[in-house]
Amino acid sequence: MNPERFESLVKDGTIQVFGEIGAYYSGSTLSNPEWEPYLKICEQYDIPVAIHTGGEEPGGTYTWSPKARLRLGDPYLIEDALVKFPKLRVNMMHAGGEDWPEHAIRLLDYYPHLYTDLGVMLWVNPNTKRYIKEFLRNLKEAGYLDRVMFGSDQMFWPDAIDRSIEYLNGMDFLTNEDKRDILYNNAARFLKLNNDNKVPNKK
Ligand SMILES: [Zn+2]
Repeated sequence: MNPERFESLVKDGTIQVFGEIGAYYSGSTLSNPEWEPYLKICEQYDIPVAIHTGGEEPGGTYTWSPKARLRLGDPYLIEDALVKFPKLRVNMMHAGGEDWPEHAIRLLDYYPHLYTDLGVMLWVNPNTKRYIKEFLRNLKEAGYLDRVMFGSDQMFWPDAIDRSIEYLNGMDFLTNEDKRDILYNNAARFLKLNNDNKVPNKK
């Protein structure tokens, strides 16, 4: 794939979202110049971009992703791309991973158009679940829950979606309105889906 081919696939509607970008796994970050031509096209055509942040399952570095390093999952490493492409719609996936909650929260604070998702974090292991519960509690207190989108990262784990919804629904510090926003409304806004689909909040 080169930028010319990428642009033609964007133009004909084949590419509507650019993600998940797994730069981490190949030892790179979104701010690396190799991504620039693609991000420029995404900004120009208003294509949402989803970038992996955080690490991966233990053992990956010894097997299929030898260039991956935990430090490359730091959410701050997407900042240069946010600055260079200020109109780009970006989803910081996996809520920044388990390592830098304050970096993830500060980025959401500093870049009010940045969104994040909960993919994989709600079910995969006790450490991600511990992290994400605290992360959501802090985001609620900070006032940024309206930019959090549900995710499961379900690829070939059939129960990942059910388990994620169940764990989210069990968080008693979130209101039903918070949960509805996370499960649908925030993503509908980020993805610019038809507003008619908005799930109304009961007052
Ligand atoms: Zn990922």
